[in-house]
Amino acid sequence: MKKLLIINAGSSSMKFQVVDRATMEPTAEGIAERITVDGAFSMKFKGEKYDVESTLDNHDDAVKVMLEQFEKHGVIESMEEIIGIGHRVVQGGEVFKESSIITKDSVSQIEELSALAPLHNPGAAAVMKAFFKLAPHAKNVAVFDTSFHQTMPKKNFMYGVPMEWYEKYSVRRYGMHGTSHKYMAIRAGELLNKKNPNIISCHLGNGASLAAIKDGKCVNTSMGLTPLAGIIMGTRSGDIDPSIIEYMCNKTGKSVQEITNSLNKESGILGLSGISSDFRELRTAAEEGNETAQFVIDIYCKRVADYVVMYQNELDNKVDALVFTAGIGENAGIIREGVMKAVKTMKFVVDKKVNDPFSPAEHLVLTTPESEVKALMIRTNEEMMIAKDLVELGKL
Ligand code: ADP
Repeated sequence: MKKLLIINAGSSSMKFQVVDRATMEPTAEGIAERITVDGAFSMKFKGEKYDVESTLDNHDDAVKVMLEQFEKHGVIESMEEIIGIGHRVVQGGEVFKESSIITKDSVSQIEELSALAPLHNPGAAAVMKAFFKLAPHAKNVAVFDTSFHQTMPKKNFMYGVPMEWYEKYSVRRYGMHGTSHKYMAIRAGELLNKKNPNIISCHLGNGASLAAIKDGKCVNTSMGLTPLAGIIMGTRSGDIDPSIIEYMCNKTGKSVQEITNSLNKESGILGLSGISSDFRELRTAAEEGNETAQFVIDIYCKRVADYVVMYQNELDNKVDALVFTAGIGENAGIIREGVMKAVKTMKFVVDKKVNDPFSPAEHLVLTTPESEVKALMIRTNEEMMIAKDLVELGKL
């Protein structure tokens, strides 16, 4: 039975999903974690969970342990069953405008782009090299978080900095979550029965970004050179005055690296609330009367709404749908309603019967027909998008 493998590698982790080629359904999934630290591996397959204590010195070890576990528990019968591997790569720069078959040369290019994504690209490249050795028969395809945003016009991706910074050092807006935003454009098109719709896509997870999608193509997005920009996130600050960094270094005696680390890991919902980066805990605190938690929910909705209004203008005020996805967007009705209420330039009438209760549905129409613009919830499926590109490019 032919299998596809979907890999999402970071600096110290590697998530995986095995997909049956015939049905395109996932069969097994799991994660190798703490790579280079001590190592932990876990996998779910046929209702069982397998945890393995194993030293993972590098990404090679993670791939080896994963393949051993596949054979041990019958996820695959032989290595030859794995016909293709789809890799999520965070940063494709201006080099990779689309998903791409991976060759030795493209691995080098992905490594060269590591300066722009130091936490992610090296891990992805290391995993690709491991598969070249351990599964040489399989096709490898890279799907980049940045590719979908490569259609942004220059007026939207340039910062107001010396032109040389862009020309010499590639400083520009790249955006992230492109695979998810692209999936939103495709699924919204199907649900709206419109081929290339104009949508505002809100990917609200731990990391979060919005995209303005015109005629099915991205024209603007809220993340920047790195994922730190845009709206307030679980632990990231989102947009701030860049002078804050120098100011805080002077005030606290901390280094630029330490302050940047705080902006990435100790800010956002966590930093503002002092409660948690997890929206569920924040919501519980707000329900128990914690005013700070309620304030953070309000400020979160407001910042998302500010981008929605900006992107309404980007789409010439012709918005087919506002789309919510990822952990918060898919599950938190109060955030969706809060965002729609905070947008004053489009009339959304929230269908409370649909929006309020938790629903495991793949998609929901959140607004009533009295609305000027529809709002949708669509569950994202980045793995499926990667699997599709893998099959298409690898001719599998
Ligand atoms: P990432 O993939 O960026 O790590 P996710 O897309 O999984 O993040 O989103 C994580 C966020 O989604 C967390 O803030 C979490 O609290 C929130 N979330 C997940 N499930 C629910 C739920 N049922 N209700 C409300 N929020 C949820």
